[in-house]
Amino acid sequence: MKRVCVYCGSSDGKKDAYKAAARELGRAMLEKGLGLVYGGAQIGIMGEIANTVMDGGGEVIGIMPKSLADREIYHTGLTRLEIVDSMHERKAMMAELSDGFIALPGGLGTIEEIFEVLTWAQLGFHRKPCALLNAIGYYDNLCAFLNHTVIEGFVNTASRAMLMTESDPRVLLERFENYQAPVVNKWIDKENT
Ligand code: AMP
Repeated sequence: MKRVCVYCGSSDGKKDAYKAAARELGRAMLEKGLGLVYGGAQIGIMGEIANTVMDGGGEVIGIMPKSLADREIYHTGLTRLEIVDSMHERKAMMAELSDGFIALPGGLGTIEEIFEVLTWAQLGFHRKPCALLNAIGYYDNLCAFLNHTVIEGFVNTASRAMLMTESDPRVLLERFENYQAPVVNKWIDKENT
């Protein structure tokens, strides 16, 4: 495992603990020599983790679509910054350059991005680990909802289990290193035939 993609908020969130979680994940990645791939912004939780990894001498690759380069204020001090034509290109490049995916606390963009790579894992398009970094219980309600999707028969247990959830970044990165992707039959009805 060489690089991890971290999706995270372009906002700071209301509690300092969210920014602290970004710094902690950055430090844990530095300890393991893992590079960071992220959206390329200077702002919010995104800027926090990028600065931590850069300051610690690690590799940071930022990928920003042209249309957002002004609004999200692209980071000028990264190892490598890619300005791409579209959001789709951004997400494809982030996925391609990374060996695993983590969502720190964030908003709609963060949630969309982690669920996209999770659905690709479910379909077997890649075999890389996906996770929520559940700082101060930020994702508790989302996890409860995901359990509900299994109970109600829309997501199978193996697909649900593909989204790891940890509050300690070091424990999470250990799990990433030992991860073996399961073979999942996405279509629930066919499981029992
Ligand atoms: P947010 O979590 O909404 O603060 O956004 C975090 C990052 O996700 C930002 O870099 C956004 O540009 C990005 N983002 C926002 N909407 C989307 C989307 N539909 N697909 C992919 N990324 C998005």
